[in-house]
Amino acid sequence: MDSALARVPVPVADLVDRLASVPGREDRLTHLEVLPPRTARTADWPAWAAADVVAAFTARGVRQPWAHQVAAAEAAHAGEHVVLSTGTASGKSLAYQLPALSQVRTTRGPRGRRGATVLYLAPTKALAQDQLAGIRALGLDVRVTTHDGDSGRDQRDWARDHAEYVLTNPDMLHRSLLPGHQRWAQFLGSLAYVVVDECHHYRGVFGAHVSHVLRRLRRICASYGAYPTFVLASATVAEPEVAAHRLTGLDVRAVTDDASPRGQVALALWEPSFTTYGGENGAPVRRAASSETADLLADLVAENVRTLAFVRSRRGAEQVAMTAAALLAEVDPSLPGRVASYRGGYLPEERRAIEDALRSGELTGLAATNALELGIDISGLDAVLMAGFPGTRAALWQQLGRAGRGARDALGVLVARDDPLDTYLVTHPEALLGRPVEASVFDPANPYVLGPHLCAAAQEIPLTEADAAIFGPSTLEVLGHLTDGGLLRRRPRGWFWTDRRRACDLADIRSTGGSPVQLVEDSTGRVIGTVDAASSHGSAHAGAVYVHRGETWLVRSLDLDENVAVIERGDPGYSTSARELTDISILSERRGQDWGGCRLSFGDVDVSHQVVSFLRRRQPGGEVLGEELLDLPERSLRTCAVWWTVPADVLAEGGLAAADLPGAAHAAEHCSIGLLPLFATCDRWDIGGVSTALHPDTGTLTVFVYDGHPGGAGFAERGFHAAGEWLAATRETIRSCACDEGCPSCIQSPKCGNQNNPLDKDGAVALLDLLLAAGPARASAERSPR
Ligand SMILES: [Zn+2]
Ligand SMILES: [Zn+2]
Repeated sequence: MDSALARVPVPVADLVDRLASVPGREDRLTHLEVLPPRTARTADWPAWAAADVVAAFTARGVRQPWAHQVAAAEAAHAGEHVVLSTGTASGKSLAYQLPALSQVRTTRGPRGRRGATVLYLAPTKALAQDQLAGIRALGLDVRVTTHDGDSGRDQRDWARDHAEYVLTNPDMLHRSLLPGHQRWAQFLGSLAYVVVDECHHYRGVFGAHVSHVLRRLRRICASYGAYPTFVLASATVAEPEVAAHRLTGLDVRAVTDDASPRGQVALALWEPSFTTYGGENGAPVRRAASSETADLLADLVAENVRTLAFVRSRRGAEQVAMTAAALLAEVDPSLPGRVASYRGGYLPEERRAIEDALRSGELTGLAATNALELGIDISGLDAVLMAGFPGTRAALWQQLGRAGRGARDALGVLVARDDPLDTYLVTHPEALLGRPVEASVFDPANPYVLGPHLCAAAQEIPLTEADAAIFGPSTLEVLGHLTDGGLLRRRPRGWFWTDRRRACDLADIRSTGGSPVQLVEDSTGRVIGTVDAASSHGSAHAGAVYVHRGETWLVRSLDLDENVAVIERGDPGYSTSARELTDISILSERRGQDWGGCRLSFGDVDVSHQVVSFLRRRQPGGEVLGEELLDLPERSLRTCAVWWTVPADVLAEGGLAAADLPGAAHAAEHCSIGLLPLFATCDRWDIGGVSTALHPDTGTLTVFVYDGHPGGAGFAERGFHAAGEWLAATRETIRSCACDEGCPSCIQSPKCGNQNNPLDKDGAVALLDLLLAAGPARASAERSPR
């Protein structure tokens, strides 16, 4: 038994009381949710499961599977495509390994001849390695291997000719297995299962790419007579069956009823107070989430509570650990040594030393970047602090899942950053705890993504009109453009790739359009990473502070002709955020709904935008140190947007004065951009907005929110479908904010190219009231066609 079990010092809810009752911390705790312990519900092993596979799981301590594992395994065994969407540590692997390994074991021919095969896809190499270790630990006679960029030629040949269970990633499928499918014909022709693990990672433009890689896989398998069953595993998201259908193109059944056990979980929502200094235009500013987290970490360590604090950057993590240690030194000189910081990239022995120190109690508090997520085993903590919402509910529960594994109690504290999303979440706990509203979204119809994959598919096997059934309704149109552009040739038997190049090289599935900008270290010439062309102006301009895998860098120069940003390691003590000016024109409305006299639309737009300056903010703290102008060219972007209009007569009837309209629309736009990530799995930097009291294309007041990627990423479309809830949350955030005239928690935006001017807080609420009064009931907005 783990020694930590005896060490949980006090009930978690009491612990929160102590943290919140420290003098000066009145009103910081906005909500405490205590989730009761959940008892496990088990089911019998299915009768079809291979005896040695069941025996292997039993030997590893699984006496009886949980009900959701069996439900998903039964569906998969029956040939039904299934997505299992349950919490962290709910044993999703067993649900697909049971049918997959059983099939491999029961179909193997005489003298070890390969029978059924299984393909497992993970978003990262590290996860595939973890799976490999897990399957090997079962000790079964199954020929399993990974196939990734690190595999040598011998290993690849063995995988192709002998392996029954291959663990790989979408990148390898795209570049290696599918283009070389003739060599893989025997493996692909015997494919019984395709496992798509952690499928909520496939979102935005990356999600659209992977959806076509999977369609190409289905097409190739079918050509060899194989129709594999797809089993997807996902964190809890809204409508997992919808995302799984978009990803695979297949009808997928969802299993979502988590039957795994859990101890009591207390989630505290925490809002730092306003500071004494003012922000832009004199706005009140809240204390930095990292400073607040350092205080809480010190308190928990002093209480002997094993705590992990998640901070965005390595620099931030070091700062949190140092501040906490300094606070502890005032209490007891022996305590500071019990706090440390952790970052990704440690050597295995360094990682083990930290793991051991935590396990033995030598270390009680650890501040880490999110890079910790991979490759370190420190489950069994008592508490997790999060300095800011980690972006998605899935990520929040994953981080929280680090505490209280198994039946132990756990405490999580979400400390809000000073932005609309965090502020909304800590004041509206139902958004985190109720039915998920955040869906994994992407748009397989994006022609910038579909085109290159059609070329790749044509090189694999020439395309025919019948392939539109696999690649979607816009296939023939895009094929026409590709033929006109000389990439494909139309012949009587279909479309052919006749180029000498590898067609798969046209699609860089991890990039979101355009040639990526390389980040090159000044002193060594080493390439540290890449930034998408679309976001390079905003994040890699000269003077930008760039956080890459938790490390802080300073950009010296950005060369747009060479697509190179020269960077150096630096700790300037501030962060930067770029500001841009945007213009937009409507190309076509794809979908629209009349909301009384108002209208909500989704469609294609042309955006011209220009990064014009950047702000420097002191870290920690967040005070604005100054703004510097930039000289970057204007760029244009063809993408998708959601927009809404309120006509002049409705505005006049609602009592909104013409002079207030620009500020009201601008404030509503900013806050709605801040909140869209709650409904679509995006980052506020993935989307942009434009608002105007009179737009030439609509002839009236219009607010646009657009996808910042060529062809669209699905975020604006999700905004259209969730508009009732999204805009109601926007209104609520503005209305309930404690400031008087607007602040970063509601209507001020760090990327505004107009210095957050004009902004009208009351006007925005009045405007959204007019719009929402005419809007559909929430329920019908959700049911609208997708
Ligand atoms: Zn405010
Ligand atoms: Zn603005």
